[in-house]
Amino acid sequence: MSTTPVRIAAPKDRLEQRIEDLKPPLSQGSARLEAERCLMCYDAPCIQACPTAINIPQFIKRIATGDVAGAAETILDSNILGHSCARVCPVEVLCAGACVYNEKEEPPIMIGRLQRHATDYAYSRGLRFFKRGKATGKKIALIGAGPASLAAAHELARLGHESVIFEGRPLPGGLNTTGVAPYKLQADTALEEVDYILGIGGIELRTGQWIGKDITFEQLEKDFDAVFIGAGLGADSKVGIPGEDLQGSVGAVHLIERIKNEPGFKLDGVHHAVVIGGGNTAIDIARELKHLGVPCVFMAYRRDEDSMSGYKHEMAYVKQEGVQLQFRAVPAEIEGKDGKVTGLRCHIVDENLKPIEGADVVLPAELVVKATGQEKLGDMLAVIAGLTIEKGRVKVNPDTHQTTHPKYFAGGDCVNGGKEVVNAAAEGKRAARGIDAYFRGDKPTTVIIK
Ligand code: SF4
Repeated sequence: MSTTPVRIAAPKDRLEQRIEDLKPPLSQGSARLEAERCLMCYDAPCIQACPTAINIPQFIKRIATGDVAGAAETILDSNILGHSCARVCPVEVLCAGACVYNEKEEPPIMIGRLQRHATDYAYSRGLRFFKRGKATGKKIALIGAGPASLAAAHELARLGHESVIFEGRPLPGGLNTTGVAPYKLQADTALEEVDYILGIGGIELRTGQWIGKDITFEQLEKDFDAVFIGAGLGADSKVGIPGEDLQGSVGAVHLIERIKNEPGFKLDGVHHAVVIGGGNTAIDIARELKHLGVPCVFMAYRRDEDSMSGYKHEMAYVKQEGVQLQFRAVPAEIEGKDGKVTGLRCHIVDENLKPIEGADVVLPAELVVKATGQEKLGDMLAVIAGLTIEKGRVKVNPDTHQTTHPKYFAGGDCVNGGKEVVNAAAEGKRAARGIDAYFRGDKPTTVIIK
């Protein structure tokens, strides 16, 4: 083990810093007590439910026996993004959702908070567990510095390969730094994790480098032995209604990025906000706005509550925190005055989504936030001859994450269409093993992730 100093810092005076951590760390005693509850199930369903297959009973046992460093090693060996995943994973529908305690109608083990306890312990002491593998002379380009590329780069380093990560934004970390709700994860913690990952060595990070503008795909193919595409998703989708260009009409991901990263950004003068959408991003931004003191926040969703794609446990918080819900509300126009948003007019629809005559409502708003999805990057990537794009996603061999162009591999949101950080971490690691197999001339086969 060795230590690595923090090198990359988020700017000061960010709005997200006013938002409290909703799942604060467990004390050492509480963590141990909770760990002692674990039944150490032989056929642990919690492991099956984890996309990175962390040996959960093993790390919990280590906490219970006082070996917290060992617990962190178990976690990070399977998932090098375990520090952020401990905070952002929807454990209620993954590991903790599968915990056998649910069948007994008792609270499941607090796996996420125990994981945080272990990785916080390792990070605060600068404990490092992994070394670079023996140099192979191979070099890989990674597009995007989000969770998929970071997981891939770390695994490639363990396998002895060098890599260069190209990131267009000034800060690395992808959505962890720019897009995850601050009450789960703030940019400082995301960047602390990036530093930790880069600390293994053999990974160069180049920010401010947009592929296609600052460097071409042809150049990457010429200069590197393989290319990993971890480009994520594009800009917020438009709704396609009048008034979207008014001041105060914004995309959710863009707004969250400003809240998390932009020094001095404020929401002064916003007393009413409307969030369009019913997914997890809509939930996140609605809660953030409440936490930042916007008195009246609406969510407008075109179907009923049961049809919302957002997690049910998150919706429960939305209600508790006082967000107003408007169901069967189809946005018709963003209304404005003097170029600024004043409200969102919605058709109220029946169960067949047909507008009910005379039932339109206008939700007052100085801010209308569109959380109806992000554009896929298929068009940008379609310029690569030999790459197959299906429904805007890069097609890969699911075992190796090799694309239909043998030199290109891909993982994360640009492949899965937008899943969790833990899925990106698993796919990046699997792709790194796939790249290693490609260098060795192995046939594509199932890559077992430990
Ligand atoms: Fe422990 Fe629950 Fe996993 Fe069983 S399912 S090993 S009790 S965390």
